Amino acid sequence: MPNTLNEKKLWDAVLAELQLTLSELNYQTWVANTKARNLTNSSVEVICPSPFVKDRLQKSLFSLIQNSVNKIGKGEYEIFFKVGDTQDKKETSLNIGPLFETSATNDTNAKSAGLSPKFTFDNYVMGSNNRLAFAIATAVAENPGKAYNPFFIYSGVGLGKTHLMQAIGNKILQDNPKSKVIYATGEAFMNEMIEAIQSGRGKGRYNTNQFRNKYRNADVLLIDDVQFIAGKETTQEEFFHTFNTLYLAQKQIVLTSDRPPKDFTDLEDRITSRFSSGIIADIQTPDIDTRIAILRKKRTDTHDSINDDTINFIAEKINTNIRELEGAYLQVLTYAKAIGESPEIQIAAEALGQSIKEEKRKPININQIIKTVCNYYSIRLTDIKGKRRTKNIVLPRQVAMYLIHNMTETPYMSIGEILGGRDHTTIMHGVRKVEEEVEFEGKLKQDINNIKHALLIADK
Ligand code: ADP
Ligand code: MG
Repeated sequence: MPNTLNEKKLWDAVLAELQLTLSELNYQTWVANTKARNLTNSSVEVICPSPFVKDRLQKSLFSLIQNSVNKIGKGEYEIFFKVGDTQDKKETSLNIGPLFETSATNDTNAKSAGLSPKFTFDNYVMGSNNRLAFAIATAVAENPGKAYNPFFIYSGVGLGKTHLMQAIGNKILQDNPKSKVIYATGEAFMNEMIEAIQSGRGKGRYNTNQFRNKYRNADVLLIDDVQFIAGKETTQEEFFHTFNTLYLAQKQIVLTSDRPPKDFTDLEDRITSRFSSGIIADIQTPDIDTRIAILRKKRTDTHDSINDDTINFIAEKINTNIRELEGAYLQVLTYAKAIGESPEIQIAAEALGQSIKEEKRKPININQIIKTVCNYYSIRLTDIKGKRRTKNIVLPRQVAMYLIHNMTETPYMSIGEILGGRDHTTIMHGVRKVEEEVEFEGKLKQDINNIKHALLIADK
């Protein structure tokens, strides 16, 4: 491990990678608020803000995190997940966010509204791709509830909807700290509602009345990724009433989505027509000039030393969306620091070339799958390929069929041959059986996850 790599740099790079791999929702929900601690040559602790997050990371993202840490740390690390304080994010050496001038109380207000203070208008670059959205957003922030209501923003992923929406909330809070701003994703809104319905039956718990009071008393309601509530009947009903209450009281509502209101097929007309009743703006993919401007802005905000040529190179290479653009930028800087070089074009090419290569996954070996399944269930290779039909052998055999089918592109017929000359219909049946059981059998699901996990580790 190069000694320039401390846990902060390591974790920034890991986060940058995860952000590219995971959906925004998953990234924000599970990963964004973690940090690394106690890095040694062979281990690192991942600090999670709650037991819930810890559990989820261990169960679902373990191998992803492990692989990323090993790659960036250039070694083999054991990962320990712990619950702890994850708040002191600000002194990151490679902070990709801006340097804030907002006061501490404002940060606290922002956090309690569910906002991240790092998303401001000041660090939002206006380009031809977002001109209208940006103009309306600033007008809304200056005149909430008056100028444009509701304000509906849509675009593909990573193009700046969340940033713009949160900038509105932050600006309103900055101008008027008492204002009740609520930011929630469509998913969080739904989960909170369900929680209120379920726990509200116990006395003194968070109940539906409290839920309603909270949302219906907002001065500004920001619902991010509202498409999530489409098709969820109770949630959209609840949302409809919240919307109406606020709208009639002339409170500002801002919504974002991955598609325009007219493209919602799974949402009642009365709701889509509410969405369209104010003003709608989209955000397009940024052109090269905007991409360069965004990276230059980032450089200014974070005082990174990286020259124009390298910035142009990254901006030219990454034309998908801004999240990936930022990820690539961070990756180049992290890579350069880790190897102790300055981030010239050559180094950038190496750093990005690497990540492109990494994406092409190594094919998983079929024999490795069979061996791992045998090990896991403590049965012999001759048994899994053999004719015996006792339960303790049939299940592992079917799990092997299922995993080979799911993790490789092997046709049923070939799977049959490899597993002791079985007919392809037997394989199809076995795969389907596991698919069905995995749906509701917790133990089997866990087993399969464990085996996959073991396979990914073995694959390294
Ligand atoms: P979305 O919600 O559309 O998926 P985000 O708002 O999360 O996208 O943006 C992804 C990343 O790109 C964020 O880190 C955000 O700060 C940054 N970003 C997006 N648009 C801009 C912009 N116009 N100027 C500066 N940074 C931007
Ligand atoms: Mg978003």
